[in-house]
Order: sequence, then structure tokens, then C-alpha cells
Amino acid sequence: MTDVRVRIAPSPTGNCHVGTARTALFNLLLARQQGGTMILRIDDTDRRRSTKASEEGVLEGLRWLGLTWDEGPETGGAYGPYRQSERLDLYRRYAVELVAGGYAYHCYCTEEELDQERKAQEAAGLPPMYGGKCAHLTADERAVRTAANPSPTIRLRAPAYDLVFDDLIRGTIRLGAGLLGDFIIIKSDGMPTYNFATVVDEHLMQISHVLRGNEHISNTFPQLAVYQALGWTPPRFGHLNLQLNPDRTKISKRTGAVYIGQFREMGYLPEALLNFLALQGWNPGDNREVFTLAELQEAFSVERCTQANAVFDLQKLDWLNAVHMRRLTVAELAQRVLPFMQGAGLLPASPDALALERLEHSVALVQERLKRLAEAPELLDFYFAEPAPAAEEFDRAICGVAAERLGALAAWDHASVEACLRGLAGELGRKPAELFMPLRLALSGRRVTPPIFETLVILGRETALRRLRGVAVAG
Ligand code: GLU
Repeated sequence: MTDVRVRIAPSPTGNCHVGTARTALFNLLLARQQGGTMILRIDDTDRRRSTKASEEGVLEGLRWLGLTWDEGPETGGAYGPYRQSERLDLYRRYAVELVAGGYAYHCYCTEEELDQERKAQEAAGLPPMYGGKCAHLTADERAVRTAANPSPTIRLRAPAYDLVFDDLIRGTIRLGAGLLGDFIIIKSDGMPTYNFATVVDEHLMQISHVLRGNEHISNTFPQLAVYQALGWTPPRFGHLNLQLNPDRTKISKRTGAVYIGQFREMGYLPEALLNFLALQGWNPGDNREVFTLAELQEAFSVERCTQANAVFDLQKLDWLNAVHMRRLTVAELAQRVLPFMQGAGLLPASPDALALERLEHSVALVQERLKRLAEAPELLDFYFAEPAPAAEEFDRAICGVAAERLGALAAWDHASVEACLRGLAGELGRKPAELFMPLRLALSGRRVTPPIFETLVILGRETALRRLRGVAVAG
């Protein structure tokens, strides 16, 4: 193990978002590639919005994708606990230290006071920033203000110099002196703010690199101020590009699917989604596009992470999904399709060996053209349930004679049914396609199906003959 230590810090306030998954993937790739350690930390200091169910959902989404971590809330590790809500004493201890050292101070300003200040600044066309009312209170003044507001916040004094860091993806990023106001590190309810807790954790967990979304660039400056006040060395930061819809709006649940669970339900393979997410913010420098997680670990480098925003192109995802589905063995693909067939009521919760065999056979026929697993029930339903009567005209005579001939076959296999039906077409003076269409309609209720001979074999003699005879006597 090297001393590369990376982390993701999801907030358990909702479902597992693709942005979270992408950040997790990139950190994992960096860790694996450098022989480092991946840490999962739960950022649950927002007590009102954090839930256990969300924490479980986020972890389950990441696991479904095949992402792993070496240290975390359930995994354990030498730097725990890994939930921020279980580390509150640590944050308080360092906040007290900062106050004692003069780097931070108690702020008694009420919400209303701060609100008024903000409005006045806005009206004057100034950026909102704490004016420093409580920054230099005497002991007497503090006593008076404590009486009025017994639960002060704690603010860090913003440094009077430029804050600069060398972003791994974006190069030097700077915030000029005076542009960061004194900011809250402990809220009035005693909880740390994100910018404070994250620094304490990064340091105590010995995090060496932080890859995260570029919406956090502005947070990096207050975080740098905390590192400096505590005399700690910051990790290296790398801020990933934004993921945008093709129309350049930011992806969100209002504009489309953004949660891992949604992609799972739509029938994307985790392998394909991971592959897609990797290409949203990184490129291999050549024209390769199809990668497994193991191949990504080989090929990844932070230097090749892109600054330009990524287009969240579902057609690309569909294409990758089809590619990854074709790479599966038929047995594997059938296993992946199974829950969708069960969800559609086409297969029972515990299908018998015969049903599974039929699933494998039928899946093999559509493997080449399946784009998402969720399409399988619609393509394959008639192998597992009686077809709905087709609106088209049935050809009773053809079905009757085909049933008779097929019914006389000694063996029910591809070669036998093919020879039988081709012979029949010749006898009737019809082109094979003309004969097969009415049979296809009778067997499946539709005009487009996988090849007719395979279909007959998969359905089996009994079912196939019953459906043909059913049409022959109908009307
Ligand atoms: N909880 C924060 C988020 O999910 C973590 C940000 C970070 O990686 O520092 O956005």
C-alpha cells in the first residue's frame, strides 16, 4: 500500500446520484492505480435531511455498480468512525482550539441581523459577506451578547492573503485576498459545517487526494483557510467537470434519470453504466471507448481527466450497454434478464430448470439486438405466456396443415422442423417467407420474432402445436 488515500463523502439525503457514483469511480480508480486506499465517509451532519434509508440506498447503488472501498462505516478501518455524526467531539475539540488561538471567534449575530446585513449589501451591489460585527468583541460585550443569544456560532477569521491551490485537473486556482468573509465552522446547534468537518476528517484520515465535482471549487477556499489555521497540510485537489444534458442544462431529476436505481430499472448493466461514467470526465487518449472496471484501473490517469464539461448522452449509454450485453455469456445474460421477466410476471420467483433453459435459449436469439435488459419481456413474452390474439388475419388453413405435418415429426429439433416446413412450402408452391408469416402470427401474436425454427424448438412440440391448432379451429 502506498500512502495515497482517497475518499468519497456522500451525503445521505437522497438516492444514489450518478454524480456521486462518478466521483466514487474516479477516486477508486486513482486509489487502485496507485496502490492506495479508498475510504467511504458518510457526510451526515445535516441532521434534518440525513436518513439511514438514504445511507443504505447510496451504499447499495455504489455496490451494485461494482464499486468497492477499503474503509467505511460498515467495513471499518483504523481511522473511524466513518460517519460524521459519530465524530462530533472531534470537530468541537478543534473548534475550541481555534477559538483559544484567536483563529476563530463566537458570533452572536442572529439570523435576522445577518439577513439585514445581506440585504443591505445586495442593495449596495456588494457580494454578501459577514461584516465582522462579532470579530473583536471585548469580554463585556460578549457577556451582553451572550445574554441575548446564548447559542452563538463559531466563525473562522478569513486570512488576509490570497488563497491558492494547484488543481490536479484545472491548474492554479486563486481567490484574491478579502474575497472570503469570516465563515461559520460550528453552527448554533453545535454541528460543524461541511467546510470544517471535511477538513478535520481529511486530516485525521490522512487523505492525500480529493477528487470531487467542480461545484466544490468555491468550498476549497474556506477549507484551505481551515487547514492554514490548524497548521495542517492540505491534500491535493482535483475538480471534475460538470455533467450536462445535450442541451447544456445541468443534469437533474427534472430533466431525466439521474439516480443509479433508475438506470438499473431501465435495464442498464452496471458494467455499461460504469464505463459510461468513466468517459464522462476522462478519456484514454486514444480511440478506445469500451472498458471493464479492471481495464479502467489500468488505463486511468488524473492527467487525462477533462476540464471540458461532459454531455450526458443516453444514446452513447445505450450503445455501450449493447456492447457489454453482447460480451456476456448467454447464461449470464439470462441471469441478468431474469428479474425483468419476473417483474413482468412471465417467470415465477423460483423458476424450474426447464424455464431457465427456455430463457437461455430465447435470450440467445435476441442478444444481438437487445439495447436494455428491460426490453427483454416485450421481445420474449410469447415464449413464456400465451400470446394476445393478433389483430391481423390468421390463416387457418396454413396453420392447420402445418400443425398436422409438424405433429407427425418423430424428432422436434431445428433440423427436423426446418426440413418439414421447407418441404411444405415447396409442396404448396409458396415462398418460405409466405408460409412462415402466418405461422409466426399464430405462435407469437406478432409479425416480427426471432427466427421461426428456433422459436418452434424453444416453445416445444406441445405448446407450438396447441397454438397452431388453436388458430386452425378458430373463427
Ligand atoms: N457531502 C459532499 C457532497 O456530497 C462531499 C463533497 C466533497 O467531496 O468534499 O457533495
